[in-house]
Amino acid sequence: MARDQRRDTRDNRDNFRDNRDAPFRRGRRKRCRFCMDKVDFIDYKSTEILRGFMTDRGKLLPRRVSGNCAKHQRHVTRAIKRARNIALVPFTTQQ
Ligand SMILES: [Zn+2]
Repeated sequence: MARDQRRDTRDNRDNFRDNRDAPFRRGRRKRCRFCMDKVDFIDYKSTEILRGFMTDRGKLLPRRVSGNCAKHQRHVTRAIKRARNIALVPFTTQQ
């Protein structure tokens, strides 16, 4: 009887841990959209696309937010820096 009770509590604790360790967002991992579209060149003149990878203040969106892979994040970064240099997109905005 006492043994059964002990096993019960341990089972409950295991279940609790399983629930807590469950991944926060399962099944909808963001993929790199350039990889999905098989893009291997990001044009610095396509400001609409570049704007999507910048914050409202004009900063670069980090990879963990944009969901880009390392390769395409580099391409986006380079394109944005080029576009900034010829004033297609802002370095920053006036607050
Ligand atoms: Zn990619």
